[in-house]
Amino acid sequence: MPNFQAILNTIYNDTVKATDKGNVATYIPELAHIDKNNFGMHLKTIDGKVYGIGNYNTKFSIQSISKVLALSKAMSLIGNDIWKRVDVEPSGHPFNQLALLEINDGIPRNPLINAGAIVIADILVSNLENPKADFLNYVRELTGDQSIQFNEKVAHSERETGFRNFAAANLLKSFKNLNNPVDEVLDFYFHQCAIEMTCSQLSKSFFFLANKGKCVLNKTRLTKTQAKRINAIMLTCGFYDEAGEFAFEVGLPGKSGVGGGIVALLPDHFVITTWAPGLNKKGNSKLGMFALEQFTTKTNLSIF
Ligand code: GLU
Repeated sequence: MPNFQAILNTIYNDTVKATDKGNVATYIPELAHIDKNNFGMHLKTIDGKVYGIGNYNTKFSIQSISKVLALSKAMSLIGNDIWKRVDVEPSGHPFNQLALLEINDGIPRNPLINAGAIVIADILVSNLENPKADFLNYVRELTGDQSIQFNEKVAHSERETGFRNFAAANLLKSFKNLNNPVDEVLDFYFHQCAIEMTCSQLSKSFFFLANKGKCVLNKTRLTKTQAKRINAIMLTCGFYDEAGEFAFEVGLPGKSGVGGGIVALLPDHFVITTWAPGLNKKGNSKLGMFALEQFTTKTNLSIF
């Protein structure tokens, strides 16, 4: 086994030295004042060992990372019926692009771009009794941590400025691929994105995807096949129009969010989470990608 703590320490020292840390997302005003000097990294191995460095216990906005957890909840509720309403092809386009939605008659390219995630949100609104509370509870149960909360200020900030998400939801509605009112679905979607978690909580919450569907509390959350499928979607679609670059540099299924978090995993081995709020031009954490590339190179642990 590699000496994981020593490797994280080295990567930390090399990462915090970087002069170009990218830029924090400003299109959600509430995220604009986060200090881009934050950097945290947390690793949880399949045999339960944990390693951390930097700000790995600081809460941040998980944003699009929530799309993976929402997809897994929807899969556990309605199984393969999801694929009647969302495709599984990489988009090769930014997360908020609308053109492809029109071309594909209202079927989003995949569940990890915004249009696809809004359809998944619609499925959850239809199938959960108290959608927001039930979903938050699901995330808490996956993590084994009841302290996880929504940040209402972030949800509100996104509602005020989410013009493109309103456009996407209205377009989906016009194609009859949204069953609930636009406002209700987006209220759910903005809240799922506004969940706050630490790197260490995120590593725990994604553990079931590295562990054939069984979560940290050893409860079965998905079948092995469903976990495999979500990992495949993360590999091909988890990084907007930079999914190829992430596979090329890092070689793990993963998901980023505009809050600067990235969760990546090697099935049957580990989950690793980074947080560095400065983003590159494609909206992925600049230093998070660098740190993960260093990790898979130094440990020689990737799916390739
Ligand atoms: N809530 C953000 C949005 O809908 C998520 C974007 C992201 O993290 O990729 O714009």
